[in-house]
Amino acid sequence: MFSIYDEVKLKAFLLEHGHKNFRYAQIEHAIYKDLVTDFDAMTTISKELRDLLKTTCYFTSLKVKSAVTSDDGQTTKFLIETHDNKFLEAVIMRHLSGRNTLCVSCQVGCPMACSFCATGKLGLTRNLDFTEIVEQIMIAVHHLAKEDKKLRNIVYMGMGEPFLNYENVKCSIEIASGQKKLDLSSRRITVSTCGIVPGINKIAEDFPQVSLAISLHAPTDEARKWIMPVEQTYPLDKLMEALDAYVAKTNKRIFYEYIMINGLTDRPEYAKALADLLRGRLAHVNFIPYNPGEGSSDSKMLPTSKVMIKKFQDALEAAGVPSTIRHTMGDDIDAACGQLALKEQEGK
Ligand code: SF4
Repeated sequence: MFSIYDEVKLKAFLLEHGHKNFRYAQIEHAIYKDLVTDFDAMTTISKELRDLLKTTCYFTSLKVKSAVTSDDGQTTKFLIETHDNKFLEAVIMRHLSGRNTLCVSCQVGCPMACSFCATGKLGLTRNLDFTEIVEQIMIAVHHLAKEDKKLRNIVYMGMGEPFLNYENVKCSIEIASGQKKLDLSSRRITVSTCGIVPGINKIAEDFPQVSLAISLHAPTDEARKWIMPVEQTYPLDKLMEALDAYVAKTNKRIFYEYIMINGLTDRPEYAKALADLLRGRLAHVNFIPYNPGEGSSDSKMLPTSKVMIKKFQDALEAAGVPSTIRHTMGDDIDAACGQLALKEQEGK
């Protein structure tokens, strides 16, 4: 059995059974444009082929264990179980502007062990196959379709480090953005990395239109190494060198994510260091007030005061670097990365 989203296998299977290429085009249209969810609904192909496909392909290997919507209706969090009984998460965010964004996971757990992150606490269990990433996207597409809404943006900011599962992430982006498939604008797809330099170089080559977000979270090596072990492999000078090369190639503004944790990442001197680091660079900083969910490895971590976040913003503004303070969505449903899967794994 193989996934209906695996084009290479499906085409080979059709060829083997004497079907011409246009059969694949009909199936592709049914899946991604008509949004059918079972073989019987594929009325453009013969019953004989539908029956054959039923014995060979599947639409879903993932099971949605729960879909919880926040009180304000803006966020829906899916807890999903894989075929081998692992848990992952995907989150729909409905913005007031009308744009609907899906946050997808690319690994079960994550090996990067960032100290403020619930997923980092899980460690890595395994990479997700590209079909499992596409299935998360299709779960959101179908869910939104029932509300007469469309998925507009995808962010690879769920569980896992996308550049440690590069080939599967790449295939899933090709399906999300393919004209004959989901046809989302590449500009509306964002991949977020903690700073894996080879991945940054590759994505600049493969998808110059896809947006890049960097989990920076601290402006100096000294500060960063306390919270992000990736710093030991790719220190800040190497990371910034790769990001400068990325901007030179793509001419795209990079989004820097900066988590505001009281006394840790929000020291007054870091505001100036951050401004100095990004001055003159094509950058936009998103400040994320720390969400003190149960998943963090250090329960003593607390969010920064609004006054201090404003001081950081002022320092950046003086350096000509735009920034936004992120509104944290879905606090009431554990929408921070990995919190729900961590609870499930720990049997809470
Ligand atoms: S913040 Fe991202 S890279 Fe770091 S542990 Fe969490 S999921 Fe992994």
